[in-house]
Amino acid sequence: MTVKQPLPTVQVDQIDPFLLLHHFGPAKVEAGTDPLALGAHPHRGFEPVTFLYSGGIRHRDSRGNEGILSGGDVQWMTAGLGIIHSEQASKSFLETGGTIEGIQLWVNLPKKDKMVQPRYQDIKAAEMPVIVENKVNLTVVAGEFRGKRGPAMTYSPILAIKADFQAGSETFVEIPAGYNALAYILSGEIEVSTGFQYTGETLLHFNNDGDGFQLKANAESHVLILAGEPINEPVASWGPYVMNTQTEIMEAMRDYQMGKMGVYVD
Ligand code: MN
Repeated sequence: MTVKQPLPTVQVDQIDPFLLLHHFGPAKVEAGTDPLALGAHPHRGFEPVTFLYSGGIRHRDSRGNEGILSGGDVQWMTAGLGIIHSEQASKSFLETGGTIEGIQLWVNLPKKDKMVQPRYQDIKAAEMPVIVENKVNLTVVAGEFRGKRGPAMTYSPILAIKADFQAGSETFVEIPAGYNALAYILSGEIEVSTGFQYTGETLLHFNNDGDGFQLKANAESHVLILAGEPINEPVASWGPYVMNTQTEIMEAMRDYQMGKMGVYVD
């Protein structure tokens, strides 16, 4: 399965507090094939988030959580002091096959929250408020937007919105002062106020000096809008760990090997 990595890039380490954004699929998968097959692996110091657009994923972790994600669902996990998890195609997806597509996002945690207890939020599509405008649907996943509050709990102020545009629609996305903001176009064609047009698989990184941005869809488009208050702390990362110093990375490696991140039993 193809995975695009618009963040980080050679030029951009992070869009604080967003560390990594992967777009997997869309991929057509035969029945019986698991395009993910991510075996048990650890995380510490940040929040791995999955926005599933289509397909089915089964999550299991060392805290005994198990979740099945379907298209439209969001999984917001806080690794905190350490969690071990696996991500695989769900049983029903394996039986039928089909199209799988999603976004994996890494949200940093402030230094004071890096060693919190892990938390697992399994957010069903129906739990998220949808703002229905003229040919634009805005689903609020996290933060408050136009009086609607997304269900995802976060450790630093974050706004996460799924925007689905019909051709010819547009909206102004208000962004709180001082937040860093990006819009990732999964598919479609989006024009911004400068007049530039961008197609699918493009990440737009905005300056954080305004009160928002206009998005105009010249074709049916699907966009993930992310904004957050920058954490402004040093980042030390290695593999599945994101801490503030190299010493803390060494501690994470040691703690995992000593079993301090728990035990994963499938
Ligand atoms: Mn993971």
